[in-house]
Amino acid sequence: MTPGTRLLVNAQGERYRFDPGSLSLELLLTGGPGPYERYEIAHTPADLAEWFTGSRLALTAPLTDVQIRPAELAALKELRGALYRVAPALAHGEAQSSDDVVLLNDATAATPRPILAPETRRLAWAPPVTGKQLLGAVARDAIGLIAGERSGRVRECSASDCYLLFFDTSRSGNRRWCSMERCGNRAKIRAYRARTETV
Ligand SMILES: [Zn+2]
Repeated sequence: MTPGTRLLVNAQGERYRFDPGSLSLELLLTGGPGPYERYEIAHTPADLAEWFTGSRLALTAPLTDVQIRPAELAALKELRGALYRVAPALAHGEAQSSDDVVLLNDATAATPRPILAPETRRLAWAPPVTGKQLLGAVARDAIGLIAGERSGRVRECSASDCYLLFFDTSRSGNRRWCSMERCGNRAKIRAYRARTETV
């Protein structure tokens, strides 16, 4: 699977690929507060470290040495909790709360460091990539979505029963579905039925 694209399973047990298009939105897929607790995958620091190796950070360079301490796991989960407010607000054109702005701003101190691998001269992340750096990467990504050149492109899936959020990377800026395999296809089938019923 391409880093940054995740395999999701819906309530009917169907699997489909979802590319949220941005690191901070991708983190929402690891679980969250309230009803999202049942999707939690980050039970231990090692769980979340493993998850990051498949995240879209690995599109830039492989993430081979990720080290997250327990306090950093807690901080990442707190940031994730804030993103559950920040990201839907973005998709719906609403303002961010002052508390969430402070939380995002405080999280940006560190970031994974790109280096040239000494042996291959290829782009790599300076090891180890720490939880604090990952916190910074996620927060910077979110800030870019709110006020950077990527602002105005966070969308919620157009299906009425789907709340997945994604950053629209399409050139036309009119991506509507979390996944063509899932909601896009369901919409096509509905449109087809509607057409055939009116004929
Ligand atoms: Zn959807």
